[in-house]
Amino acid sequence: MKNVMLTPHFSLLEFIESPTARKYGIANDPPEEAVDNLKRLCENTLEPLREALQLPVVITSGYRTKALNDILAHASERSQHMIGQAADFYIGWGQRLKGLSPHELLIKAFRLIIQSELIDYDQLILYPSFIHVSYVSREANRRTIILGMRNGKLGYGKCSIENALKIQ
Ligand SMILES: [Zn+2]
Repeated sequence: MKNVMLTPHFSLLEFIESPTARKYGIANDPPEEAVDNLKRLCENTLEPLREALQLPVVITSGYRTKALNDILAHASERSQHMIGQAADFYIGWGQRLKGLSPHELLIKAFRLIIQSELIDYDQLILYPSFIHVSYVSREANRRTIILGMRNGKLGYGKCSIENALKIQ
């Protein structure tokens, strides 16, 4: 798979590289439509977020073939990762932001995605150590906010914008 830049700060390789795929010998190569979807996700969600934060957005999971998705615990059968519409990430931090913890940076990114007019999304899920975000198209995006954890357990609770912005 040839590596290409999808937007100035995101390369295709970041979205297809998977330690799990390597471990199980799965070729995690996306078809062309999935690459197009990943590009849209970068252009409309991840790159504007990177721009607003001025910090690295570290992709931990992007595209997943069905074979890869099937062996991941907690992965949804209808996961948007399988068509290149979703990515999981955390915010890389450095010297400059010593005052903010990884969790505080995650909350900052979560709020920016909800509030910034320059950032669009389909589904936004907040987990304790990462964010899952997807993008379909401006017309089809549902703009759903979900809390991936409830009382320390994996669970899916829909959340209003008002309540999402209160999360610390
Ligand atoms: Zn995800």
